[in-house]
Amino acid sequence: MSVAPIGFEASIIEVEADSKKGLPSIQIVGLGNKAIDEAKERVRSAITNSLLEFPTKKIVINLAPAELPKDGTHYDLPIALSILAASSQLRPEETAQSVFAGELGLDGSLRSIKGAINIAEAAKQAGYSRLYLPKVNSAQAGLISDLEIIGVTSLKQLYLHLKQEMIIKPAQDTPTVTRVAPSSDSVTLDHIRGQEQAKRALTIASAGRHNILFHGPPGTGKTMLAKALLGLLPELTAEEIIDVTKVHNLSGEIDGQIITERPFRAPHHTASRIAIIGGGDKPKPGEVSLAHLGVLFLDELPEYPRSVLESLRQPIEDGYINISRSSGRAKYPANFMLVGTMNPCPCGYYGDPDRECSCSPSRILAYQKRLSGPLLDRIDMMVSVQRIPNKQLIIANTSNNTQQAYAKKVIQTALTKQRNRYSSSSYYNSMVASKDTTRYTPLLTESQALLDAATEKLNLSARSYFKIIKLARTIADLDDAESIEPSHVAEALQYRNEPYSI
Ligand SMILES: [Zn+2]
Repeated sequence: MSVAPIGFEASIIEVEADSKKGLPSIQIVGLGNKAIDEAKERVRSAITNSLLEFPTKKIVINLAPAELPKDGTHYDLPIALSILAASSQLRPEETAQSVFAGELGLDGSLRSIKGAINIAEAAKQAGYSRLYLPKVNSAQAGLISDLEIIGVTSLKQLYLHLKQEMIIKPAQDTPTVTRVAPSSDSVTLDHIRGQEQAKRALTIASAGRHNILFHGPPGTGKTMLAKALLGLLPELTAEEIIDVTKVHNLSGEIDGQIITERPFRAPHHTASRIAIIGGGDKPKPGEVSLAHLGVLFLDELPEYPRSVLESLRQPIEDGYINISRSSGRAKYPANFMLVGTMNPCPCGYYGDPDRECSCSPSRILAYQKRLSGPLLDRIDMMVSVQRIPNKQLIIANTSNNTQQAYAKKVIQTALTKQRNRYSSSSYYNSMVASKDTTRYTPLLTESQALLDAATEKLNLSARSYFKIIKLARTIADLDDAESIEPSHVAEALQYRNEPYSI
């Protein structure tokens, strides 16, 4: 038995072999692609180089169910074992109750595979008790509990194990996940001078996982602010570690490692739509999925092609992305926090007191209009970042390192409150559906009155109205307050600094 990973899911595959008299040959049927056809040569060499016998008969391999397209090199191992079984070198009971996956080298060694976690999940769901896969992937597969994981280094070693001549010890039940400490060169709030409103906004965004856009002239530290986010976000939970590792393994970005830190992805605006959204001949996760449960940082947001920005709407709304291509459909998670930056105009100096903008009004308008209303609608916080006077820099220089510690403390308070409210450690205020906001977030009468007045004065859309409530909820949570008070609503209203300035 083996498994076909399909997008983020997987399905059990039966690998059968039949050998009969005839001209020695090997044929693989069952909708395999080129990689699978090439398995013939790898399997033949691997078997003979493992000092096992490759039958001089006509061999037919069938991968069932036949209608499911199959791709990947991890069928090498089950194909080799089915040939050994068809030639009576292995008995059926020796491979029973087990699932196999692994790419074979010509010398019979086993190489890293994609989709190790999908394979382990499918094996467990289908009721198998044991999974054999390359040793390098065994820690990843071990993230799935209640399944015996046996990491194998070579076909020969596995053969001796199945014959009970040389037993391979199963991988640990739960692999020791060593969390990577944030690197010492990571940016903290204490590294950023001035920009108090922006830092406060970052704290709120991290606590409630709100999408945020920083806009202002170049050289104001917008990028640095975005980078400081990683040090503020909560640690990944055990379940989140599985999902993040799974998607990075599927993309081929990592072999056997386990990812324990929230991803921070910063694709350049020249990256292709497929690279950002996902897809390709064999649907592959893109940057939006690699940023799953982490941050998608888009520097200079208006520079990204319109088609890319529009494609972000589905993942921002639903937390996943559907990719369909001729070779099949795939659904990948894409629940990221969007952090964007933008200049006020193409040259960057529109509205700057010290430097003159060289852009024509029509060019400025076109630049700012590249962000469509529906996309801006999905960004909870818009924060203007201005250049700080030199005098302020000197004052800020003498402050001690306490902002980061304070921010982390209040974020923790807000996380605990959200955890209790939603009975989940992966659910945040920003994710509440508009219709549910009033259920979770009672507003004091005065707060409601303030919000109503603002809605009328600023002519806010219904979506904006609920966004302000969600944001005010996070601000109240940072305050450890049960109800949303007028001061919380007032602060939430400040983060509606639309970049449109003309
Ligand atoms: Zn300009």
